[in-house]
Amino acid sequence: MYLYRLLRVFGYLIMTGFYSGLLVNPALAYNGSHNGGKIVIAHRGASGYLPEHTLAGKAMAYAMGADYLEQDLVMTKDNRLVVLHDIILNHVTNVRDIFPGRARKDGNYYVVDFTLAELKKLAVIERFNLVDGKRVAVFKDRFPLGKSTFRIHSFEEEIELIQGLNKSTGKNVGIYPEIKNVAFHNKEGKDVSRAVLKILKAYGYTKKSDKIYLQSFNARELKRVHDVLLPEMGMKLKLVLLLWPPDDAEWVKKPGSMIKVAKYADAIGPDKSMLISKKSVIGHIIATDLASRAHAAGLEIHPYTFRTEQIPPYAKNYTDLLNIFLFKIGVDGIFTDFTDKTVNFLKAKP
Ligand code: CA
Repeated sequence: MYLYRLLRVFGYLIMTGFYSGLLVNPALAYNGSHNGGKIVIAHRGASGYLPEHTLAGKAMAYAMGADYLEQDLVMTKDNRLVVLHDIILNHVTNVRDIFPGRARKDGNYYVVDFTLAELKKLAVIERFNLVDGKRVAVFKDRFPLGKSTFRIHSFEEEIELIQGLNKSTGKNVGIYPEIKNVAFHNKEGKDVSRAVLKILKAYGYTKKSDKIYLQSFNARELKRVHDVLLPEMGMKLKLVLLLWPPDDAEWVKKPGSMIKVAKYADAIGPDKSMLISKKSVIGHIIATDLASRAHAAGLEIHPYTFRTEQIPPYAKNYTDLLNIFLFKIGVDGIFTDFTDKTVNFLKAKP
């Protein structure tokens, strides 16, 4: 029943959004990127419109014209990879209702304490916080909490969806998996990176020219992937070091830092605040030197996360925000919850 509904959603999206887009501009269907190679990365799917990391959300982002779809990857008790952002289930599922008593002492329900079969019993819900025992949406204007039916899915299921759509549409949309929380997985006895690479290899992602970027916040682990795991498995992939200001702002500022990163990575994925001086105001944008140093080192730059609900004080609106990053600072792609608005912006740009 669920599958049937999902298929209907695909059909609808592809007939209305995607297919009409094809008729209007056939070139866009094949080049796989927009406006001078700038790429649109669907952050956790079509997160502005449907619950994050659901197959429905991924199909919608695909139909909206994303170049890459993002997967955050967390391991289960039975060593499967599921597509979820958090290592806990508290904020995007009804786990408290289905498995009461399965929380750890800290009150959290960890993905790693459940098998894939158990996780499939949960409903996925638009992201929320629990306030006085009640669910409160993180983004109040997004998909309503607890409506319709969405499920957790494995990494393989998502790759099969994207590769299936690539076959049926003739497009070549890429994947953008993230190895989540390496330290936690290691503590639980799981080699999450090796598990990710095994699946990538099985599904044909083995070369730098394949439509994939593999990302992590953990520089040491990304270096291990580059120096040890990829050569061991006979693979070469484009790697992205994610950067998060509280942990990474200081060392990133040091001269030569980007040259070091470029020894094992192909791109950086910084929080967008790291690219813009705090002195920036509307009409007067001052870039930090990060973008120029990263580009000089040969790294691509894919900052996160672009949302219509979160417009920084230096931008007038979402379009202005996109223009600042993509054409003033000159980044190579962005992570967005709003693939449609970003693709439309790039299509309209002369
Ligand atoms: Ca991510």
